[in-house]
Amino acid sequence: MDYDIAIIGAGVAGSQLGTLLSERLKGKRIVIFEQLEKPILKDSGIVSRDIEKFIKTKKIKKLIRKKIKKMTLFSPNGKTINLENKEPFAYALRRIEFARAMKRPVEDMIKYERVLSVKLRSDCCLVTTEQDKYFVRLLAGCDGANSLTRRAMVEKGITKQPKLLHGAFTQGKETRKIKVYLNKFYSPDFFAWNFFGECGLATAHRPRAHLDYFLKRQDVKPKRIFASPIPLGLLKSFADRCLLIGDAAAQVKPLTGGGIIYSLKAATYAANTIEKSFSLGRFDAATLKAYEKAWRDDFGSEIKNGLRLRAIYRKMTNKQINELFELFKDDVEKVFAKEAVKRYDYLSAAASGIPKKKITKFMLKNLNLLA
Ligand SMILES: Cc1cc2nc3c(=O)[nH]c(=O)nc-3n(C[C@H](O)[C@H](O)[C@H](O)COP(=O)(O)OP(=O)(O)OC[C@H]3O[C@@H](n4cnc5c(N)ncnc54)[C@H](O)[C@@H]3O)c2cc1C
Repeated sequence: MDYDIAIIGAGVAGSQLGTLLSERLKGKRIVIFEQLEKPILKDSGIVSRDIEKFIKTKKIKKLIRKKIKKMTLFSPNGKTINLENKEPFAYALRRIEFARAMKRPVEDMIKYERVLSVKLRSDCCLVTTEQDKYFVRLLAGCDGANSLTRRAMVEKGITKQPKLLHGAFTQGKETRKIKVYLNKFYSPDFFAWNFFGECGLATAHRPRAHLDYFLKRQDVKPKRIFASPIPLGLLKSFADRCLLIGDAAAQVKPLTGGGIIYSLKAATYAANTIEKSFSLGRFDAATLKAYEKAWRDDFGSEIKNGLRLRAIYRKMTNKQINELFELFKDDVEKVFAKEAVKRYDYLSAAASGIPKKKITKFMLKNLNLLA
């Protein structure tokens, strides 16, 4: 066997997992395969304050670009909902510096080789890179939204592919406000944003055409466009000798597309399970299942509820969104002010504070949304 553990991907999930395993499993041969020598800008880096649980306090101060106390949602007809709190409820990270800080502790474990294929077997996993072939005892697929590891599990009928949205943005003039647009012309199935000089959107349909239209309306000239997929779904994340973590497992909030905190949490649950599995000398699916139970107990129902709410939102027209703003503005602002600091990563659960009667009335008036 070449390695005890191979991690594919040194993004948020892979770096966090590598750091934890190198601390806990001394003497085990651990490798991380990464295709990119330098991190690329792939997301907006907005995270809840839970980030402080994962990064040492002194370091995190240097990685925060802005502390966020207010975001404004805009309806198609220009009405607003102000999501506001006296304390910051989220941080915008210096994203490239954050990626470097995550990678620094595992730099010695990284082999800069692109993985071409993965074979899952009951006695070992075979990882083929552009340079070589490696036999490994346990494989952790932290290889992002287009995960090769997940594809190998799909081919064996173990899991399914998530739905992939396309996120795309450009950087314009630095602005102080965070504006989020719920408007079907900008994004038919998700939202568009303009904050701190970053203008972008996510959608499953013709992202570039929608982005061009949105940028024109925001009076922003597109410079370089950054684009990456956003995976959505509730997937099985374990097999014999194999786990999926982070975007590879679609551990992403369906209401915001945010996946950094869920990736960090899932990597921690994976490290616990892997440590146990080495102490038992067992790498079968029945042993690795504990990982999936842990992350589903934490944020599985948030993903499930978020997917349901998204399915409703996808069917809405701009007229219905305008109506939603009229009806629920006060309730949403009140609930957010009360819950945001504690529950920024659990927004659909926090939404249970909105009066049920009002929701029922809105749904009965708009029966197409229930179909
Ligand atoms: C436009 C956009 C905006 C976003 N905004 C936010 C936000 O504000 N807040 C937030 O929390 N989340 C946001 N996200 C989501 C966030 O980027 C991801 O959830 C998070 O980065 C997932 O981390 P990961 O480690 O699982 O995957 P990744 O960060 O994608 O890391 C995967 C790593 O695997 C490597 N890799 C892949 N395939 C191979 C291979 N075959 N061989 C070797 N290496 C390989 C890649 O190079 C990469 O380094 C956004 C996403 C997008 C697209």
